[in-house]
Amino acid sequence: MKEDTEKISCHVCKKIIPKAAALHSEGQEYVVHFCNVECMDYWKKDKESKKKKE
Ligand SMILES: [Zn+2]
Repeated sequence: MKEDTEKISCHVCKKIIPKAAALHSEGQEYVVHFCNVECMDYWKKDKESKKKKE
């Protein structure tokens, strides 16, 4: 199986997308994938709001 046909699921909405087309963000301990910028922004905002609570 070629790497560019590998499928992954969006971290936010769980939509299955080709890994080559996915956006990704490197967290402190892991890399997360997103189907589009809206999902990436959602995750970033969610992460920020969790930081403020601590
Ligand atoms: Zn998504």
